[in-house]
Amino acid sequence: MKNKGSMSLIERDHAAVAATIYRYTDIAFDHGEGVYLYDLEGREYLDFVSGIATMNVGHGHPDVVEAICEQARTLIHGACHIGYMEPYVELVEALKAVAPGDLKDGKGILVNSGSEAVETGIKLARYVTNRPMILAFTDSFHGRSMGALALTASNTLYRRRLPSLLTGVHHTPYPYCYRCPLKHASAENCDLACLNLVEKALESVVPPEDLAAIIVEPIAGEGGYIVPPDGFLAGLRQICDRVGALLIADEVQSGMGRTGKMFAIEHWDIELDIICLAKALGGGLPLGAVLAKAELMDQWPPAAQGTTFGGNPVACRAGLATLKIIKSESLVENAQKMGDYIMDRLCSHQKELPIIGDIRGRGLMVGAELVNKDGSPADEIIKMVIKEVGSQGVVLTKCGASTIRFAPPLIIKEDQLEKGLSTIIKILKKYQW
Ligand code: PMP
Repeated sequence: MKNKGSMSLIERDHAAVAATIYRYTDIAFDHGEGVYLYDLEGREYLDFVSGIATMNVGHGHPDVVEAICEQARTLIHGACHIGYMEPYVELVEALKAVAPGDLKDGKGILVNSGSEAVETGIKLARYVTNRPMILAFTDSFHGRSMGALALTASNTLYRRRLPSLLTGVHHTPYPYCYRCPLKHASAENCDLACLNLVEKALESVVPPEDLAAIIVEPIAGEGGYIVPPDGFLAGLRQICDRVGALLIADEVQSGMGRTGKMFAIEHWDIELDIICLAKALGGGLPLGAVLAKAELMDQWPPAAQGTTFGGNPVACRAGLATLKIIKSESLVENAQKMGDYIMDRLCSHQKELPIIGDIRGRGLMVGAELVNKDGSPADEIIKMVIKEVGSQGVVLTKCGASTIRFAPPLIIKEDQLEKGLSTIIKILKKYQW
């Protein structure tokens, strides 16, 4: 059936597609170009979401399109278990070249999604340590498949009626300082209390000799674009070293230049044992990766882990083109510059807009948390704001309960940002209490 327009497509969708696939907007995308998306009626939208932090190099970048087409004409699929493929090897080599710290000498494995990358990471950790337990954090999101879901703790909605997930997972609070889980007034005077709760867990529920790994998002994504205080990630590294556990960073959302560094962990210069990647890595095609220290990967015996589609050559070529563009167009630097612009612009309005309770982030991973007059999350207002902003030509979404998520493509320019920001600010003024 040919599309007759957005309304007709939405009706067909509701009749055929599972209702659990929730949409934040009623926009029916037709095509994309650069930082813009176009609907079936030809209306233009500035994309402030990037397909959930994925289209870092923008929509339809000619180099990505060309790389995909050329590889599709050559070989679409070969399966990494059947033979060797240049795009697979080249992508792992390219990732190693930009990897943080010692992972530059590591080894990699390619998968299909963020959830699969996370599951691969924790399987590796459990295998090499021969220990059963994983420590993760509240407000974190690591995926929705059963293993990854056992780590995800940003919303009970994802876990409802699913009480028996992977065993051996323990959560302690993520340092969400704006809404301190321990009710401290500020991060300056809390003495990294969230770190002390990890220590406490190691005394009370997680025997240190049973801990395989701590998995952490260096900046919490779906949970609300939460930046941990300095010292938190370094403290986790020290704990891991002391008890012989591995430190895994889930950079599925924060990686690939998004935060103004190639990887968010570089803001704190912490050594990792394992890093999990996906989203922007494949330039819009499904692709994930796990890099780990070579001495860990080398312990995983042949065929203990694998996948049919992981490292598909077309996705790898899209990934390689993406990495090249990030470098040649200086997108890491642009993410930093444009992120600072958003922060400055929002901060300059915060006085007249007390609905913005908190502004936080790094690079182009910026969150503005909306609050009600009593300080509670403005979770109803944000839904209306997203819809209204959409009707005025800006695609926006939230993270956490009520945080506006600023995650435009890293190619965005100041005048484009300004256009979107002024639309958002104008609408926020209407909802001001
Ligand atoms: N980890 C993080 C940090 C994520 O943000 C996400 C997706 N939002 C995932 C894992 C899961 O990725 P996917 O949806 O590709 O399985």
